[in-house]
Formats: sequence, structure tokens, C-alpha cells
Amino acid sequence: MKNPAGIECEFFYGNYFRGQSTEECRLINRKTSTIRWAPEICKICPVPRIKLANSCKNMVLSASIQTKWFGLKKYVHISAYCSQTEKNVEVPEIGCGECHPIQDIFNNIAE
Ligand code: SF4
Repeated sequence: MKNPAGIECEFFYGNYFRGQSTEECRLINRKTSTIRWAPEICKICPVPRIKLANSCKNMVLSASIQTKWFGLKKYVHISAYCSQTEKNVEVPEIGCGECHPIQDIFNNIAE
């Protein structure tokens, strides 16, 4: 479903049936977020970009809304975990590299 920023996001849920207007993010953790989710958060959220770069089914994302600069700037903090290797993923756009290893042909080019 397209999020309020107009980008496809699997975690966005909107119910507009018969005049209803219910919107929610089903990824952002309410307990660890310092502020509540609102539709404008989708404009600054990196999740659609991460899912576009890496669609690995074993990678589990978790997200929370945080603030910096004394609460003036909001950002979405993302952490990723690989359920196959049971390790944290440092760069979610790339993944952990276990089930999608870099092909030898590319390693040979780099040498
Ligand atoms: S906040 Fe991020 S994860 Fe949640 S619906 Fe918006 S784009 Fe998707």
C-alpha cells in the first residue's frame, strides 16, 4: 500500500472504507519511540528505500521514532536482524551477506 508520502510500503495500513480514515504504521514500535507515529513520519522514513535495496525475507527490521538536536529534529532509527544467521545486520540496504554472497566474478574484478 502507498504510504502518505506516496511511496509503496508494506508496513503502512490505511482504511478509507465508507468514510473511515484510519492510518497506521505496523512497524514502528510504540514502546521504544519517543514520539507517536504520524503520517508525516513517512516522508523521513528510510524503510521503503531499504526494502527496495534489499528484499531478503530473513531480514527482520525494527524501527522507532527518535529525536535529536534537543527534540527539534525527528528521525526513524532502524535496526535489522537476520533470522537465518541470528546476527544483527550492520547495513540493512546490503544485508549480512550470508545467503546472498557476492559472486566470485565480482571479487576477481576487484583484484
Ligand atoms: S513510517 Fe516508514 S515503515 Fe512506517 S508506514 Fe511510513 S514509510 Fe512505512
